[in-house]
Amino acid sequence: MPVYENTRLTLEEVGNTKLVCVTKTIEPARINEAIRAGAPIIGENRVQEYEDKCADVLPCETHLIGHLQTNKVKKAVDLFDLIQSVDSLKLIRNINRRAGAIDKVQRVFLQVNIGNEPQKHGFGPDELKKVITEIRALRNVRVEGLMCIPPFLPPEQTRPYFRKMKGLFDELKQENRDNIDIKELSMGMSGDYRIAIEEGATMVRVGSAIFGERKY
Ligand SMILES: *Cc1c(COP(=O)(O)O)cnc(C)c1O
Repeated sequence: MPVYENTRLTLEEVGNTKLVCVTKTIEPARINEAIRAGAPIIGENRVQEYEDKCADVLPCETHLIGHLQTNKVKKAVDLFDLIQSVDSLKLIRNINRRAGAIDKVQRVFLQVNIGNEPQKHGFGPDELKKVITEIRALRNVRVEGLMCIPPFLPPEQTRPYFRKMKGLFDELKQENRDNIDIKELSMGMSGDYRIAIEEGATMVRVGSAIFGERKY
């Protein structure tokens, strides 16, 4: 079944991989069409944009996938079921504090800067074990997975980064206990989701292959 009219992507195509429909810049009426067609999760990358739209969006699981600034943490914890873009200890401590204030256990993924790119957000692959040790003490967050945005390259050249992420994912799953429950690997976007799935993604984040090119 197509997720959206004229879409290039079908739910069958992603199979058992979870699909996050990326709805940034997409208006509520179009988001709702996708939800009615069976889109299981929507992903937004700006807190403010989603806050402005959310009253008009049908009930659906919602993920924040864009960089979260400290001054938006309160709203993000109030609005999103899962925050995929946790990229610093300072940020996750802030999320934990806000979640505690409203008696929520906030589901999060840790964003990994898998290409070690200076301009990109995310934990370095080598610091994740230590980071997880620190997070274990936080009572109001639960780490359910890892997320990455690989270097911007032609699709086939992203494969080694996805493969490296899968290795990290398998390794870090062995840390699962307490509030660490790593079970999802979120990687792959419109240009490379097929490759990400081949390399072991359990979740892909797809926008333009569903809704067409974004108009900003
Ligand atoms: C926009 C965005 C996507 C989806 O991008 P498309 O190329 O349109 O599929 C996925 N992940 C993040 C973090 C994004 O910001």
